[in-house]
Amino acid sequence: MKALVIDKLCNVLEEEQPLTLVDLPIPEVGRNEILVEVSACGVCHTELDEIEGRTPPPVLPVIPGHQIVGRVVRKGEGVTKFDIGDRVGIGWIYSACGECEFCKKGLENLCTNFKATGRDANGGYAEYFKIGEDYAVKIPDYFSDYEAAPLLCAGAIGYRSLKLANINNGDRLGLTGFGASAHLVLKLVNFLYPDTEVFVFARNPAEREFALSLGAVWAGDTADFSPEKLHAIIDTTPVWKPIVEGMKNLLPSGRMVINAIRKEDVDKDYLLNIRYEEHLWLEKEIKSVANVTLKDIDEFINIAADAQIKPEYQLFDLEEANKALKELKNKKIKGAKVLKIK
Ligand SMILES: [Zn+2]
Ligand SMILES: [Zn+2]
Repeated sequence: MKALVIDKLCNVLEEEQPLTLVDLPIPEVGRNEILVEVSACGVCHTELDEIEGRTPPPVLPVIPGHQIVGRVVRKGEGVTKFDIGDRVGIGWIYSACGECEFCKKGLENLCTNFKATGRDANGGYAEYFKIGEDYAVKIPDYFSDYEAAPLLCAGAIGYRSLKLANINNGDRLGLTGFGASAHLVLKLVNFLYPDTEVFVFARNPAEREFALSLGAVWAGDTADFSPEKLHAIIDTTPVWKPIVEGMKNLLPSGRMVINAIRKEDVDKDYLLNIRYEEHLWLEKEIKSVANVTLKDIDEFINIAADAQIKPEYQLFDLEEANKALKELKNKKIKGAKVLKIK
Protein backbone atom coordinates (compact mmCIF):
# COMPACT_ATOMS: atom_id res chain seq x y z
CA MET A 1 0.00 0.00 0.00
CA LYS A 2 1.01 3.62 -0.50
CA ALA A 3 1.75 5.51 2.70
CA LEU A 4 3.53 8.61 3.88
CA VAL A 5 5.80 8.30 6.87
CA ILE A 6 7.60 10.55 9.29
CA ASP A 7 11.13 9.11 9.11
CA LYS A 8 13.02 12.14 10.46
CA LEU A 9 12.31 15.23 12.53
CA CYS A 10 12.70 18.42 10.51
CA ASN A 11 11.35 21.89 9.85
CA VAL A 12 8.35 21.49 7.54
CA LEU A 13 9.12 24.63 5.51
CA GLU A 14 12.87 24.10 5.22
CA GLU A 15 12.74 20.42 4.23
CA GLU A 16 11.60 19.74 0.68
CA GLN A 17 9.84 16.46 1.52
CA PRO A 18 9.11 16.38 5.27
CA LEU A 19 7.16 13.13 4.84
CA THR A 20 8.48 10.30 2.68
CA LEU A 21 6.24 8.34 0.30
CA VAL A 22 6.79 4.60 0.78
CA ASP A 23 5.28 1.28 -0.22
CA LEU A 24 4.36 -0.88 2.78
CA PRO A 25 2.55 -4.19 3.26
CA ILE A 26 -1.16 -3.94 4.11
CA PRO A 27 -1.43 -4.34 7.93
CA GLU A 28 -2.49 -7.74 9.28
CA VAL A 29 -5.43 -7.56 11.69
CA GLY A 30 -5.21 -9.20 15.10
CA ARG A 31 -7.95 -10.13 17.54
CA ASN A 32 -10.67 -7.45 17.86
CA GLU A 33 -9.04 -5.35 15.15
CA ILE A 34 -10.53 -4.01 11.93
CA LEU A 35 -8.74 -3.18 8.70
CA VAL A 36 -9.97 0.09 7.23
CA GLU A 37 -9.62 1.09 3.61
CA VAL A 38 -8.98 4.80 4.09
CA SER A 39 -10.91 7.22 1.90
CA ALA A 40 -10.13 10.51 3.65
CA CYS A 41 -7.71 11.75 6.28
CA GLY A 42 -7.71 15.27 7.69
CA VAL A 43 -4.48 17.24 8.00
CA CYS A 44 -3.98 18.63 11.52
CA HIS A 45 -1.59 21.10 13.17
CA THR A 46 -0.49 18.24 15.39
CA GLU A 47 1.25 16.68 12.38
CA LEU A 48 3.45 19.78 12.26
CA ASP A 49 4.19 19.31 15.97
CA GLU A 50 5.12 15.68 15.41
CA ILE A 51 7.38 16.31 12.42
CA GLU A 52 9.05 19.31 14.04
CA GLY A 53 9.62 17.46 17.31
CA ARG A 54 7.24 19.26 19.69
CA THR A 55 5.31 16.02 20.31
CA PRO A 56 7.62 13.53 18.62
CA PRO A 57 6.56 9.96 17.83
CA PRO A 58 8.27 7.52 20.21
CA VAL A 59 9.41 5.35 17.29
CA LEU A 60 10.23 6.33 13.72
CA PRO A 61 9.13 5.75 11.06
CA VAL A 62 5.42 6.23 11.74
CA ILE A 63 2.47 6.99 9.45
CA PRO A 64 0.83 10.22 10.73
CA GLY A 65 -2.85 11.19 10.49
CA HIS A 66 -5.62 11.01 13.08
CA GLN A 67 -8.81 12.20 11.34
CA ILE A 68 -9.57 9.08 9.39
CA VAL A 69 -12.68 8.00 7.47
CA GLY A 70 -12.90 4.74 5.57
CA ARG A 71 -14.64 1.41 5.25
CA VAL A 72 -14.08 -1.85 7.08
CA VAL A 73 -12.61 -4.37 4.64
CA ARG A 74 -11.37 -7.07 7.01
CA LYS A 75 -12.27 -8.16 10.52
CA GLY A 76 -10.06 -9.90 13.06
CA GLU A 77 -11.36 -12.64 15.29
CA GLY A 78 -13.84 -11.40 17.90
CA VAL A 79 -14.99 -8.31 16.03
CA THR A 80 -18.72 -7.74 16.65
CA LYS A 81 -19.26 -3.98 16.49
CA PHE A 82 -18.73 -3.62 12.73
CA ASP A 83 -19.45 -5.49 9.51
CA ILE A 84 -17.49 -5.51 6.30
CA GLY A 85 -18.40 -2.37 4.36
CA ASP A 86 -19.33 -0.25 7.41
CA ARG A 87 -18.13 3.33 7.28
CA VAL A 88 -16.03 4.25 10.30
CA GLY A 89 -14.24 7.26 11.71
CA ILE A 90 -11.16 7.37 13.90
CA GLY A 91 -9.72 10.29 15.88
CA TRP A 92 -6.72 11.00 18.13
CA ILE A 93 -7.41 8.11 20.53
CA TYR A 94 -5.89 4.89 19.18
CA SER A 95 -6.09 2.87 22.40
CA ALA A 96 -5.92 2.98 26.18
CA CYS A 97 -5.37 0.27 28.79
CA GLY A 98 -9.05 -0.10 29.72
CA GLU A 99 -8.18 -1.12 33.27
CA CYS A 100 -6.69 1.81 35.16
CA GLU A 101 -8.72 4.10 37.43
CA PHE A 102 -9.07 6.70 34.66
CA CYS A 103 -10.18 4.22 31.99
CA LYS A 104 -12.74 2.77 34.42
CA LYS A 105 -14.21 6.25 34.87
CA GLY A 106 -14.46 6.84 31.11
CA LEU A 107 -11.40 9.10 31.21
CA GLU A 108 -9.24 7.02 28.90
CA ASN A 109 -7.85 10.33 27.60
CA LEU A 110 -5.91 10.50 30.89
CA CYS A 111 -4.68 6.87 30.85
CA THR A 112 -0.90 6.60 31.22
CA ASN A 113 -1.05 4.06 28.39
CA PHE A 114 -2.99 6.43 26.12
CA LYS A 115 -1.83 5.85 22.56
CA ALA A 116 -2.40 8.48 19.90
CA THR A 117 -3.34 7.61 16.33
CA GLY A 118 -0.62 8.58 13.88
CA ARG A 119 1.96 9.18 16.60
CA ASP A 120 2.14 6.12 18.86
CA ALA A 121 0.61 3.86 16.19
CA ASN A 122 0.38 4.13 12.41
CA GLY A 123 -2.30 6.56 11.24
CA GLY A 124 -4.27 7.45 8.16
CA TYR A 125 -1.86 8.98 5.63
CA ALA A 126 -2.08 5.58 3.92
CA GLU A 127 -4.38 3.42 1.82
CA TYR A 128 -5.08 1.07 4.74
CA PHE A 129 -5.11 1.41 8.50
CA LYS A 130 -5.87 -0.96 11.37
CA ILE A 131 -7.26 -0.35 14.86
CA GLY A 132 -9.11 -2.13 17.67
CA GLU A 133 -12.83 -2.01 16.87
CA ASP A 134 -13.59 -0.32 20.21
CA TYR A 135 -11.76 2.81 19.07
CA ALA A 136 -13.69 3.47 15.85
CA VAL A 137 -17.10 5.13 15.53
CA LYS A 138 -19.86 5.00 12.93
CA ILE A 139 -20.19 8.15 10.84
CA PRO A 140 -23.73 9.56 10.38
CA ASP A 141 -25.03 9.48 6.78
CA TYR A 142 -25.42 13.25 6.84
CA PHE A 143 -21.69 13.69 6.15
CA SER A 144 -19.58 12.83 3.14
CA ASP A 145 -16.23 11.19 3.96
CA TYR A 146 -14.44 14.49 3.30
CA GLU A 147 -16.81 16.48 5.51
CA ALA A 148 -16.54 14.04 8.39
CA ALA A 149 -12.73 13.77 8.52
CA PRO A 150 -11.88 17.28 9.79
CA LEU A 151 -14.56 17.05 12.48
CA LEU A 152 -12.89 14.07 14.11
CA CYS A 153 -10.14 16.14 15.75
CA ALA A 154 -10.83 19.86 16.20
CA GLY A 155 -14.55 19.21 16.55
CA ALA A 156 -14.29 16.42 19.09
CA ILE A 157 -11.73 18.29 21.19
CA GLY A 158 -13.80 21.48 20.98
CA TYR A 159 -16.75 19.45 22.19
CA ARG A 160 -14.71 18.08 25.09
CA SER A 161 -13.65 21.62 26.05
CA LEU A 162 -17.30 22.70 26.01
CA LYS A 163 -18.24 19.79 28.28
CA LEU A 164 -15.43 20.78 30.66
CA ALA A 165 -16.69 24.38 30.66
CA ASN A 166 -19.63 22.87 32.51
CA ILE A 167 -22.20 25.49 31.53
CA ASN A 168 -25.98 25.33 31.59
CA ASN A 169 -28.29 26.73 28.94
CA GLY A 170 -28.48 30.48 29.56
CA ASP A 171 -25.04 30.81 31.16
CA ARG A 172 -22.70 33.26 29.49
CA LEU A 173 -19.69 31.75 27.69
CA GLY A 174 -16.51 33.43 26.48
CA LEU A 175 -14.25 32.19 23.69
CA THR A 176 -10.76 33.63 23.59
CA GLY A 177 -9.11 32.98 20.24
CA PHE A 178 -11.37 32.35 17.27
CA GLY A 179 -9.87 29.73 14.94
CA ALA A 180 -11.27 26.49 13.53
CA SER A 181 -12.00 24.85 16.87
CA ALA A 182 -13.68 27.94 18.33
CA HIS A 183 -15.99 28.34 15.28
CA LEU A 184 -17.18 24.81 15.82
CA VAL A 185 -17.71 25.44 19.52
CA LEU A 186 -19.79 28.54 18.75
CA LYS A 187 -21.98 26.53 16.36
CA LEU A 188 -22.32 23.76 18.95
CA VAL A 189 -23.32 26.25 21.64
CA ASN A 190 -25.96 27.77 19.35
CA PHE A 191 -27.44 24.28 19.00
CA LEU A 192 -26.98 22.78 22.48
CA TYR A 193 -27.47 25.91 24.60
CA PRO A 194 -29.72 28.21 22.54
CA ASP A 195 -30.14 30.74 25.38
CA THR A 196 -26.42 31.04 26.06
CA GLU A 197 -24.80 34.28 24.95
CA VAL A 198 -21.29 33.96 23.54
CA PHE A 199 -18.62 36.65 23.98
CA VAL A 200 -15.57 36.41 21.74
CA PHE A 201 -12.09 37.80 22.42
CA ALA A 202 -9.85 37.97 19.35
CA ARG A 203 -6.94 40.14 18.26
CA ASN A 204 -7.90 40.11 14.61
CA PRO A 205 -10.83 42.40 13.61
CA ALA A 206 -11.78 40.01 10.78
CA GLU A 207 -12.18 37.21 13.30
CA ARG A 208 -14.31 39.44 15.51
CA GLU A 209 -16.56 40.25 12.53
CA PHE A 210 -16.80 36.58 11.71
CA ALA A 211 -17.73 35.70 15.30
CA LEU A 212 -20.54 38.27 15.28
CA SER A 213 -21.82 36.92 11.96
CA LEU A 214 -22.03 33.45 13.54
CA GLY A 215 -24.13 34.73 16.43
CA ALA A 216 -21.71 35.97 19.11
CA VAL A 217 -23.40 38.81 21.06
CA TRP A 218 -20.15 40.72 21.58
CA ALA A 219 -16.61 40.60 20.22
CA GLY A 220 -13.65 42.49 21.59
CA ASP A 221 -9.88 42.42 21.82
CA THR A 222 -7.96 39.92 23.96
CA ALA A 223 -7.52 42.19 26.97
CA ASP A 224 -10.91 43.95 26.87
CA PHE A 225 -13.44 43.84 29.66
CA SER A 226 -16.54 41.95 28.51
CA PRO A 227 -19.77 43.93 29.05
CA GLU A 228 -20.97 41.22 31.47
CA LYS A 229 -19.13 38.71 33.64
CA LEU A 230 -18.98 35.18 32.26
CA HIS A 231 -19.63 31.70 33.68
CA ALA A 232 -16.80 30.14 31.69
CA ILE A 233 -14.25 30.95 29.00
CA ILE A 234 -12.65 28.52 26.56
CA ASP A 235 -9.15 29.50 25.45
CA THR A 236 -7.82 28.17 22.13
CA THR A 237 -4.74 30.36 21.80
CA PRO A 238 -1.10 29.21 22.07
CA VAL A 239 -0.12 31.96 24.54
CA TRP A 240 -0.72 33.22 28.12
CA LYS A 241 -2.06 36.74 27.82
CA PRO A 242 -5.62 35.66 26.88
CA ILE A 243 -5.82 33.51 30.01
CA VAL A 244 -4.63 36.15 32.43
CA GLU A 245 -6.82 38.82 30.83
CA GLY A 246 -9.77 36.45 30.59
CA MET A 247 -9.74 35.56 34.29
CA LYS A 248 -10.82 39.08 35.25
CA ASN A 249 -14.00 38.59 33.17
CA LEU A 250 -15.14 35.47 35.03
CA LEU A 251 -17.93 35.39 37.58
CA PRO A 252 -17.26 33.90 41.04
CA SER A 253 -16.65 30.12 40.54
CA GLY A 254 -16.10 30.79 36.84
CA ARG A 255 -13.91 28.41 34.93
CA MET A 256 -11.17 29.02 32.36
CA VAL A 257 -10.75 25.97 30.11
CA ILE A 258 -7.48 25.82 28.19
CA ASN A 259 -7.89 23.89 24.96
CA ALA A 260 -4.26 23.78 23.81
CA ILE A 261 -1.75 20.94 23.75
CA ARG A 262 0.96 23.28 24.99
CA LYS A 263 1.55 26.94 25.55
CA GLU A 264 4.37 28.79 23.84
CA ASP A 265 6.97 30.48 26.01
CA VAL A 266 6.88 33.75 24.06
CA ASP A 267 4.79 35.66 26.61
CA LYS A 268 5.10 33.52 29.71
CA ASP A 269 6.17 36.59 31.73
CA TYR A 270 2.57 37.69 31.30
CA LEU A 271 1.74 35.27 34.10
CA LEU A 272 3.40 37.72 36.48
CA ASN A 273 0.36 39.94 35.91
CA ILE A 274 -1.91 37.50 37.76
CA ARG A 275 -3.33 39.32 40.78
CA TYR A 276 -4.98 36.98 43.24
CA GLU A 277 -7.93 39.22 44.06
CA GLU A 278 -8.81 40.22 40.54
CA HIS A 279 -8.05 36.99 38.71
CA LEU A 280 -8.51 34.04 41.06
CA TRP A 281 -10.34 35.01 44.25
CA LEU A 282 -13.92 33.71 44.71
CA GLU A 283 -13.22 30.18 43.57
CA LYS A 284 -12.36 30.87 39.96
CA GLU A 285 -10.47 27.99 38.40
CA ILE A 286 -8.27 27.08 35.46
CA LYS A 287 -8.61 23.69 33.78
CA SER A 288 -6.79 22.16 30.82
CA VAL A 289 -8.19 19.77 28.17
CA ALA A 290 -6.15 16.69 27.28
CA ASN A 291 -6.74 14.38 24.32
CA VAL A 292 -10.23 12.95 23.68
CA THR A 293 -12.23 9.93 24.72
CA LEU A 294 -14.04 7.70 22.26
CA LYS A 295 -17.32 8.95 23.73
CA ASP A 296 -16.38 12.56 22.92
CA ILE A 297 -15.86 11.62 19.26
CA ASP A 298 -18.99 9.50 19.04
CA GLU A 299 -21.25 12.07 20.73
CA PHE A 300 -19.78 14.99 18.83
CA ILE A 301 -20.09 13.49 15.34
CA ASN A 302 -23.77 12.72 15.98
CA ILE A 303 -24.53 16.14 17.49
CA ALA A 304 -22.74 17.78 14.56
CA ALA A 305 -25.03 15.89 12.17
CA ASP A 306 -28.15 16.94 14.14
CA ALA A 307 -26.90 20.53 14.26
CA GLN A 308 -25.99 20.37 10.54
CA ILE A 309 -22.46 21.54 11.19
CA LYS A 310 -20.38 20.99 8.07
CA PRO A 311 -16.78 22.15 7.77
CA GLU A 312 -15.30 23.96 4.79
CA TYR A 313 -12.54 21.81 3.35
CA GLN A 314 -9.97 21.66 0.61
CA LEU A 315 -8.86 18.36 -0.94
CA PHE A 316 -5.32 17.15 -1.64
CA ASP A 317 -4.15 13.84 -3.11
CA LEU A 318 -2.20 11.59 -0.77
CA GLU A 319 0.96 12.40 -2.72
CA GLU A 320 0.34 16.10 -2.04
CA ALA A 321 0.43 15.73 1.74
CA ASN A 322 3.71 17.64 2.01
CA LYS A 323 2.20 20.53 0.07
CA ALA A 324 -0.83 20.50 2.39
CA LEU A 325 1.41 20.57 5.49
CA LYS A 326 3.47 23.47 4.12
CA GLU A 327 0.31 25.43 3.35
CA LEU A 328 -1.00 24.68 6.81
CA LYS A 329 2.19 26.00 8.37
CA ASN A 330 2.06 29.09 6.11
CA LYS A 331 -1.61 29.55 7.08
CA LYS A 332 -2.21 30.03 3.37
CA ILE A 333 -5.84 29.12 2.91
CA LYS A 334 -8.72 28.99 5.35
CA GLY A 335 -10.70 25.82 5.85
CA ALA A 336 -9.63 22.30 6.76
CA LYS A 337 -7.26 20.34 4.56
CA VAL A 338 -8.24 16.78 3.74
CA LEU A 339 -6.30 14.07 1.93
CA LYS A 340 -8.38 12.26 -0.65
CA ILE A 341 -7.10 8.72 -0.55
CA LYS A 342 -9.74 6.68 -2.34
ZN1 LIG B 1 -5.63 16.85 15.38
ZN1 LIG C 1 -6.04 3.15 31.37
